[in-house]
Amino acid sequence: MGPIQQPNPFKPWADTLRELGVMGLVRESVPVEASALAPPQLVPSLPAESPAPVPLPVPRRALAAAKPPVTRPATVPGYTPPDDPVGNPPADIWASAPDLASLADCTKGCLACPLGPGRFRFVFGEGNPKARLMFIGEGPGKDEDQQGRPFVGKAGELLDKMIGGMGFKRDQVYIANVVKCRPPDNRTPTPQESQTCLGYLKRQIELIDPSVIVTLGATPLKELLGVQVGITKVRGCWQRLDLGRAIPVMPTFHPAYVLRQYTDEVRRAVWSDLKAARAWLEEHP
Ligand code: SF4
Repeated sequence: MGPIQQPNPFKPWADTLRELGVMGLVRESVPVEASALAPPQLVPSLPAESPAPVPLPVPRRALAAAKPPVTRPATVPGYTPPDDPVGNPPADIWASAPDLASLADCTKGCLACPLGPGRFRFVFGEGNPKARLMFIGEGPGKDEDQQGRPFVGKAGELLDKMIGGMGFKRDQVYIANVVKCRPPDNRTPTPQESQTCLGYLKRQIELIDPSVIVTLGATPLKELLGVQVGITKVRGCWQRLDLGRAIPVMPTFHPAYVLRQYTDEVRRAVWSDLKAARAWLEEHP
């Protein structure tokens, strides 16, 4: 009589994840092939003109020391924003907003770029106002525009799984976008639209003061960090955002891209990036 076979206690959980299609974005406790959790073989390197790697460790400064932007973002050529303080919030108001609720309140009527008149709802962002981990995407889609919340569609479901895989709940992190109004047909916001909205996001980041930011896709990388290199080359490489202090930024693919390119390679890449961000948080409590 041969040895008694013990049932694999992880199998039901692994089967569930496989049915959900999230194998490869799960935590180490789930039995997956060792090769699936290996870091990418090729670590993309940045050209000289890109931001330098983050110096470690980055000291966490008091928020009060951060200097808010005082200049109004550029408005979009060819579009004339209204001249009232609701449709065109004065920079000296939103740049000195003392908390997220005040910032949302003074910007929610914004019509400073062409995206404003076409929105159904203003999507400010949501989550823990003092989150150590912040995710920044591109802009609201149809579902987000309807609900006024970021990442609530299919891509949002995947982002929730990514957050869960890192050991967090959605309400423990903060989620925002580069632009707060939906671009028509889900197109990429133009650089002018992004730059017009960017001051709000920067003030949002200053108020949250996260330890680590994970950017999702090419737009936040380009508009927030000024990195012009493609996301496939830069993902997985630490960047930094200087807003009074240097905040480490880990670029990874946008969940919508992962859903479109649902390959082992893409999922391994995303998981590798998320693990790096989580490791930073664990090493810098
Ligand atoms: S996208 Fe930003 S700048 Fe443009 S109207 Fe909306 S809130 Fe204002």
